[in-house]
Amino acid sequence: MAATVVHASRILTPEEELTDSILVVEDGRIAAIGHRDEVRIPSGAVDHAANGMTIVPGFIDVHIHGAGGHDVMEANARALDRITSTVARHGTTSIVATTVTAPIEDTCHSLAGIARYIGKHERLDGDARPAAEILGIHLEGPFISKAKRGVHPPESIAKPSIETFNKLLAAGDGLVKIVTVAPELSGAIELIEAIAAAKVVPALGHTDANYDQARAAIHAGARHAVHMYNAMRAFEHRDPGIIGAVLTDPEVTAEVIADGVHVAGPAIQMLIGCKGVDTVVLVSDGIAATGMPDGNYRLGNFEVTVEGGVCRNSEGKLAGSTLTLDRAVRNLVALGVSLQDAIRMATILPARRLGLAGKKGIIAVGADADLVALTPDLRVVGVMTRGSRFA
Ligand SMILES: [Zn+2]
Repeated sequence: MAATVVHASRILTPEEELTDSILVVEDGRIAAIGHRDEVRIPSGAVDHAANGMTIVPGFIDVHIHGAGGHDVMEANARALDRITSTVARHGTTSIVATTVTAPIEDTCHSLAGIARYIGKHERLDGDARPAAEILGIHLEGPFISKAKRGVHPPESIAKPSIETFNKLLAAGDGLVKIVTVAPELSGAIELIEAIAAAKVVPALGHTDANYDQARAAIHAGARHAVHMYNAMRAFEHRDPGIIGAVLTDPEVTAEVIADGVHVAGPAIQMLIGCKGVDTVVLVSDGIAATGMPDGNYRLGNFEVTVEGGVCRNSEGKLAGSTLTLDRAVRNLVALGVSLQDAIRMATILPARRLGLAGKKGIIAVGADADLVALTPDLRVVGVMTRGSRFA
């Protein structure tokens, strides 16, 4: 397969900024990178000019339920093809397919389907169209708080159980990467320890935990907070709760849904101000309606209504979003965050949380060739996924 050579005015790796540079892509990976006078171009290489554009790593979304009219829990090839190609058009080149709370048997069925799909899609050929890679599965529920369930159906919420976790883990065939847990529930700390021992990321979310309960969970191994501020006990200055625990712990990464609806701008600025730019991860929490017109869509097993791009269930509660990570990056930049930091929050930081540093979320020799070309006003004009055609 011929190499591809990308000529870029600017590359954000995102740890470094390079100008007038060249990237060589071979066999789905980045083979060389450097100033145009320094890099040897392989003979027969296909040129791709990205003059005037900024090349960044593809975005990694660790919390996404669906897109393009489909939900990941449908778990068949047609649905997952549609989801992965829809988000790729917005620069997302990797996702962690996220389930919502459902009966355990339904969830196991979905996990098995997603795992089968991942197994069949390990390799892409160079002519393939861009599609995000499914890196694994995020279980959002069933071990969550009924008081902070958001739109998760209460009848399927389950008590923390290592036995149930092991059943889900087995159904996912080693691909479960993140599990959301409300740490105040009885048995949650033991479960968090078991999740961490299984080399899965225990995440805090849909929780009414007070500060001490949240601290105990972090001590037990929790390292990630799910859609910060949303479906969490509110912060009070005498009762700082889970939010206070996350804001003051530099080890815990915090997801934020920067769609202008889920979290107000100043709350995002506070999050970055408290935790610094190394611990905030942009997520979409996107549902089937992403990339689709307003209307009725399914989220897991229930229906949501989308109006003006905002998703709500029949009770009027927010039910995920139609956000894409390119828009999240633009929204962060509009809040005064530097482009480099906003890109890091969508690339290298989620990659590190998933244990994929050096392979994903970075433009470096040996990393997967997941690339996005951005215009000066941060629109996506080209995407490459694992050496696919740059389209
Ligand atoms: Zn949620």
